[in-house]
Amino acid sequence: MRTTRTSIAHYRRIAFALAAFLAGLTLGHAQTVSQTARQPVSSGKRYKSLAIRNALVIDGNGTPAAGPKDILIEGNLIRAIVPLDPVALSSGEQKRPEAEAEIDAAGKYVLPGLINAHVHVQDERGGVPQPLDYELKLWLSCGITSVRDVGSDLKKTLQLREKSNSGEVAAPRVFVYGRFDSPAAPVNASEARRRVRELKQSGVDGIKIFAIDRDILAAMSGEAHELGLRIAHHAAVAESNAWDDIRFGITSIEHWYGVPDAAIERGVQDFPASYNYNNETDRFRYAGRLFREADPERLAKVLEGMVRAGVAWVPTLDIYEASRDLVRAQNQPWFRDYLHPTLEEYFRPNPQHHGSYFIGWTSTDETFWKENYRLWMAALLDFGRRGGLIGVGDDAGFIYQMYGFGMLREMELQQEAGFHPIRVIQHATGNNARILGEEERLGRIRPGFLADLIVVDGNPLADLKVLYPTGVEMVRDGKVVRTGGVQWTIKDGIPYHAPTMLSEVGKMVAQARASHQPAR
Ligand SMILES: [Zn+2]
Repeated sequence: MRTTRTSIAHYRRIAFALAAFLAGLTLGHAQTVSQTARQPVSSGKRYKSLAIRNALVIDGNGTPAAGPKDILIEGNLIRAIVPLDPVALSSGEQKRPEAEAEIDAAGKYVLPGLINAHVHVQDERGGVPQPLDYELKLWLSCGITSVRDVGSDLKKTLQLREKSNSGEVAAPRVFVYGRFDSPAAPVNASEARRRVRELKQSGVDGIKIFAIDRDILAAMSGEAHELGLRIAHHAAVAESNAWDDIRFGITSIEHWYGVPDAAIERGVQDFPASYNYNNETDRFRYAGRLFREADPERLAKVLEGMVRAGVAWVPTLDIYEASRDLVRAQNQPWFRDYLHPTLEEYFRPNPQHHGSYFIGWTSTDETFWKENYRLWMAALLDFGRRGGLIGVGDDAGFIYQMYGFGMLREMELQQEAGFHPIRVIQHATGNNARILGEEERLGRIRPGFLADLIVVDGNPLADLKVLYPTGVEMVRDGKVVRTGGVQWTIKDGIPYHAPTMLSEVGKMVAQARASHQPAR
């Protein structure tokens, strides 16, 4: 590459202009933004217009960060994105958008709001009531602006969806996938079709299926396609597997069951004779020995088939982590101030609770699970490289995963699987919007899209941990400081101050602990 004297001078001039401009930004931008009566932004209030100034933007489509930009929100929509060109601004050629209120995002990163593609709306654990607000506020404090509920109390969750849409309650958008097998699993094709029609009538956005027989899957998916309902499949150990999801055009495979199963040479895992699926310790122990039985060549064919059929994968790597490292899972630092006693109790090993199977969990179990993760992550990376659609969801509220925090951990685990952080962010935003069928209005920072975005204190491309609302520790001027976290979670044009949300969670937990009678 040749560099001439003139081009060096040219770049120097640009660099100088940019430095002067950035200095202006950090010292305040009275010169560049005309002064109108701007209010300090208050949490939970929608403004006629809201500007996010000086943002470094990471969009949800897998492109690198770019900025500084001004983002103008009007009502609940993104109206304009203005790249700030120092030369055009100083010559007066460029005008910055005016707004009623503004957030200065200088030195911060702005991303589309995170979408959690696998949640359960929960207002109780193990039959003990738990305030719904606890989950909602944790989601907002972690930057989550949309959730896909894949099975909860249908009536309550539909109500929550409406209250969230109207802005009556501080919550992410809720997309409701009703359970196909609740109150009872349909046992023949006509019952299956009827159940799908019932769910459609109730107003769901999609359907969640669990272990299911092939003929029932054929019937229900046919009806669902006709009615325009998406299907999320938690396959479990069952007659149907990923080949059936490919054949019947299922929207997404949840977790990972059904994928390695479809690649086992003998068609069935080598279970010991004593295996009982309904014994959760058996179930989770031998699940950790599943991927090793998948034939690599067959597995590649399964993954390719999923890509071609447009079957997405929401792996929820986070929710099995206790299986590979129980002590880590049981000692997450945010438990100290933010783990609700109801959830804490629910996480304790107890055969009565789903996912609380850690009685007699051995180093051998963890070793098998570590291998299982390696193979699982490699398969996920392969799927992504082939062009497969990967989403991010946490399935929190089970197995030592707290709402919201699980989502962020999932993003770290997808990085561990080999994805660039830019891709991980795409999985959590643009890809999840596609899984929901909302890619024309969610998951991107684009004019005309819904105003769902987050302002992050720190660069998540350098460290995804800066997304944690509890922040990260850093050395600045020789001192250790705590920094990071999502500052603002803007959903539907309404800014929520994320640290305030977290401190409200802290108060809720302290209060519940003070009045909590531990079970004996
Ligand atoms: Zn789930």
